[in-house]
Amino acid sequence: MKIRRYTCKDMQEALLKVKIDLGSEAVIMSSKKVKPKGFLGLFKKPLIEVVAAIDDEYARPARLNYNQRPMPAPAYDPYRPQPAQERYVPVSEPVPEQMPPRNDRFMERPVEKAAAPMTENPVQTRENQKISELEGKVKNLESMLNKIYQAVQSNKAAETEGEDKETAKEAERQAAAKEAERQAAAKEAERQAAAKEAERLAAAKETERQAAAKEVLEKAVEIIEEIEDDNNNSAAISKKPLLELRNILFEKDVEPKLIEKILEKITERGGHKLDRDEVFNLAAKVLTASLGEPEPIKLVEKNKPHVAIFLGPTGVGKTTTLAKIAADFTFRGKKVGLITADTYRIAAVEQLKTYAEILNLQVTVVYSPGEIKEAIESLKDNDLILIDTAGRSHKDKQHFDELKALVSAADADENYLVISSNTSRIAVREILEYYAFIKNYKLLFTKLDESPAAGVILNAVYLTGKPLSYTTAGQSVPDDLDIANVEQIVASLLNENSD
Ligand code: GDP
Repeated sequence: MKIRRYTCKDMQEALLKVKIDLGSEAVIMSSKKVKPKGFLGLFKKPLIEVVAAIDDEYARPARLNYNQRPMPAPAYDPYRPQPAQERYVPVSEPVPEQMPPRNDRFMERPVEKAAAPMTENPVQTRENQKISELEGKVKNLESMLNKIYQAVQSNKAAETEGEDKETAKEAERQAAAKEAERQAAAKEAERQAAAKEAERLAAAKETERQAAAKEVLEKAVEIIEEIEDDNNNSAAISKKPLLELRNILFEKDVEPKLIEKILEKITERGGHKLDRDEVFNLAAKVLTASLGEPEPIKLVEKNKPHVAIFLGPTGVGKTTTLAKIAADFTFRGKKVGLITADTYRIAAVEQLKTYAEILNLQVTVVYSPGEIKEAIESLKDNDLILIDTAGRSHKDKQHFDELKALVSAADADENYLVISSNTSRIAVREILEYYAFIKNYKLLFTKLDESPAAGVILNAVYLTGKPLSYTTAGQSVPDDLDIANVEQIVASLLNENSD
């Protein structure tokens, strides 16, 4: 027995296929409508599924035709499903002369008519049963295969999902490793940069130290040579006071170039022929001339109010000095107004307000350069207006620009650069460079009580050509304020024991 299943677009096509495939003796076991497979099948026309069979024996073309089969099917077989009768259609029923072509006839022929002879054939019935059983088995197999297929598919999906997760984890792990690597590299670069900077600073310090040592050594050699010269030449004996003077000024931290200039001037005036007192008196004159006449605040009645602004590094004593000057003028019967732009430190504002309260003065706070003109205007009834500013770091460009803008906007009658006298020679140079943008200013030195560094004062005047004004020597307001005492500064410079 051969059983075949055909799925065609209509019954006509199915029968044609059955006939071509199994021959004219084939019988139709079942036929039903089926939906085409796949999602799109839902929208297509149903197909016809036909199961056809042929006994091996009958399959031979020259044998019996269907009507000549020896054993008709039984009238009723309880194991055989009823529709099977309908399905059991002989394909090769004799064609009457007047009938339409054979294929059409298959289609039009009622199934009941063909099924009738089968009910009397027991062999055929058994075969039908077998076919049904086989069909059932095939269906079972089909559904099993389907399940297996679906299980394999879902396993595959799970595997893929697992793989995806693993891949994502790996990518995450790799990214974390890369980030850690990057951070380590950045840290290392930072460490190396810091090490380089430290090295550079150490090298710079060493160079400076070496230069200073060289300078001292050169001077010592020079002095020894000159002493030797003096010893060999009795006429030049007066060179010794000059050498002593050079030594003292060197000890006072006076700029080496300035020392040479001072010595030149003394020599020009015959200093090399003078004794020690004469040389030192001459030196005092030269130094006094170099320091110039101090210029304190001078009020001009016509030019009212007189405005003075105080600039300089933080902590040098600007606010305290400003309070001292304010007190001094108040005691002399002048009206003084105060402005503070030192808003970076709350304490600075409070400090000035406290002084203002004690002295019963008006005080105005300005927060930006744009407000200074208005503040000055608001205090225009005063004889003198003193403006306090914040010390700025030369490394902070924004603060520096703001300070420049403030000085320019204030357009004060006088600018005061306040420097602490305990500042080193090199640091004073840096401060002078930083404030070089102020065109006209006076030098004001504080804290002379802490460090009578007269050399620093002399250097500043020599390097800037600006006049001296006041000096302060203590924290007490208003007592510890003086107009710069040039005589004292010179005495301090020439006194070998004063430092
Ligand atoms: P500013 O930041 O420049 O305004 O400085 P301040 O006026 O706030 O002063 C800083 C510190 O220096 C304060 O403790 C003052 O009392 C102190 N000071 C100010 N002038 C002198 C001075 O001439 N001698 C001494 N020894 N200390 C002073």
